[in-house]
Amino acid sequence: MPELPEVETIKRGLKKAIVGKKISDIKVLKSKSFQGDIKEVIGSIIKDINRRAKVLILEIQNSKTKQLKYLLIHLKMTGQLIIRLQTKEKITKGQNNKKSPFDVDGLPNKYTRVVIEFSDGSKLFFNDLRIFGWIKVVKDLEKAIGEKFGPEPLTKDFTLDYLKKVFQRSGKPIKLILLDQSKIAGVGNIYANEALFKAGVLPTRPANKLNESEIEKLKNAVITVLKEGLKYGGSSAADEAYRNVQGQKGKMQEHFKVYEREGQKCWRCSTKIKKIKMGGRGTYFCPACQR
Ligand SMILES: [Zn+2]
Repeated sequence: MPELPEVETIKRGLKKAIVGKKISDIKVLKSKSFQGDIKEVIGSIIKDINRRAKVLILEIQNSKTKQLKYLLIHLKMTGQLIIRLQTKEKITKGQNNKKSPFDVDGLPNKYTRVVIEFSDGSKLFFNDLRIFGWIKVVKDLEKAIGEKFGPEPLTKDFTLDYLKKVFQRSGKPIKLILLDQSKIAGVGNIYANEALFKAGVLPTRPANKLNESEIEKLKNAVITVLKEGLKYGGSSAADEAYRNVQGQKGKMQEHFKVYEREGQKCWRCSTKIKKIKMGGRGTYFCPACQR
């Protein structure tokens, strides 16, 4: 699933590619993927693009009434947003992909769910193999996003005091707290695994058993791995669909220390990396380096 670094990379790409463009049409090829009335959106100008946690927020303005609305986009497990500047291909249900289901050479493809068309002829393709992702038309952003998420880890709101309070309140495994979007925004399975390795903390440790120095290490590790993810343009791991808006893969997977490295040697101590399941998600750690 795209996490903060991947969604942020997409946000930056979209900002360059589509701000100022006018939406001329929207083709919904899978009704579940688009919630709202396309008529409310067609004719609007993209004013700005933001991100909160793993949600993309497209601010749109009706060119006649000047009313502001928002298109919220969540990519969930396998969502992709790909921009094509000029494409003459007819927007119908596409063909099966020859290589990987996440290949974006010819768009639309079998997994294209929504196409947003702009007045200059460019198109934004929303592909989603698993169909958990969505695009939503929203009038009240505060109501839709408001209190749902904890602080963004790459802002000054992500403080040691805040984490101390959150961790002290729970005896749940620390990894599950890191994944809880209402506590910390944007961290998902990959970066939680990597941050816990970097901090030397076992994913199964009860949150309220971490001491202050461990909490501080973990806080810094979360920030470091997310920044690393951003630097490498996100991660396109073995089972994942992630592409940036140009259709290119990220490179963070080449720098994973534990994620998807079960049975391989720990970079630090050569002990074999272990894999367990926590909350249904693959959890990777070094049994020697992490305590
Ligand atoms: Zn180790």
